[in-house]
Formats: sequence, C-alpha cells, structure tokens
Amino acid sequence: MNKPEIIQLGNPILREHARRVDDFGGPEFQQLITTLQNMMIEANGIGIAAPQLGSSWQIIIIASRPTARYPNAPEMQPVVMVNPRFEVLDTNLHKDWEGCLSVPGVRALVPRYQAIKVDYQDNQGQSLEMELRDFPARVFQHEFDHLQGLVYLDRVENNRDIVAESEFFKLIAA
Ligand code: ZN
Repeated sequence: MNKPEIIQLGNPILREHARRVDDFGGPEFQQLITTLQNMMIEANGIGIAAPQLGSSWQIIIIASRPTARYPNAPEMQPVVMVNPRFEVLDTNLHKDWEGCLSVPGVRALVPRYQAIKVDYQDNQGQSLEMELRDFPARVFQHEFDHLQGLVYLDRVENNRDIVAESEFFKLIAA
C-alpha cells in the first residue's frame, strides 16, 4: 500500500457525504482507524476525518491537545467516533480559530455551538454518548462537517475572518 496522504481542498471526495459504517469486523476498517491515528499525530492535528484520507466513511477522531499547530488547545483523551451524530445543548454560537489539514496555510474564525451531546459507535460498534463543551465541541463539529462534505471555510461569516497561518501565530502569541 502506498503511504496515505491527506487530501486537499479541491479534491471532490471532501465534498461527498460519507457512508455509514456497518461492518466493524473487517481488517480494512481497523487498518483505516490505525492510519487515521498515525496521520493525525504525524501532522500535529487535533482531529481528523476519514474523508481526509480519501476514504469516504463516517469515522472521525477528536483529540484536542497542545501541538505546534494549536499551542493553546486543551488536552483530552483521543476518541474514535464511528457514525457520529450530535444534538445542541446550548444554541449560543461562539467564534474561535480553526484550521484544517486539508486547507493548508490559512486559519479562520468559525462560529460553533459551545455545548453538544454526541452519540457514536466505538471501533467495536458499541454505542456511546458524550457531552462536549468549548474547544473539544468545536473540534467535533469541524470533523463532523467533513462527513457532510463541508469544510470550515463554508461556516465563516465574513472573508475578513480568514487569515494567513503566519499571521494567526502572531495573533495568538500577542
Ligand atoms: Zn478539517
């Protein structure tokens, strides 16, 4: 197998609706999860979605932690979520910075819900629920969007909320 790559904005796979996973027993499914974990860590990501590897399945990982890309991110245990859904617990939207491994070189302020309840299946197919708040809730909504064929730039309210990544690092250091 060739080394997997993170596909970039413009690739039509990022605009597809990802398929639900029904077969949790296949070796390809478990291999895809392992590859997602490895690629996310290698790229200093704090979340990843299967379509970003060109695999249009409803699988995401959320893993907020401080990295070179997100020095101020809070630490959480990484969670693999298969077939995730969510409901909104607090309808207030809050804008904060996001970036994306599939959209290199830019960051933008994106409005997201601050409190959500997620249900999903783990990598064995077991159904689980989790409440997420603040930054981890943001990471979830970003990755969930990838499963709907959306990227974070689609949520930006004003083009002025988009900046070059080099300027973003100056802003958060100030
Ligand atoms: Zn992304």
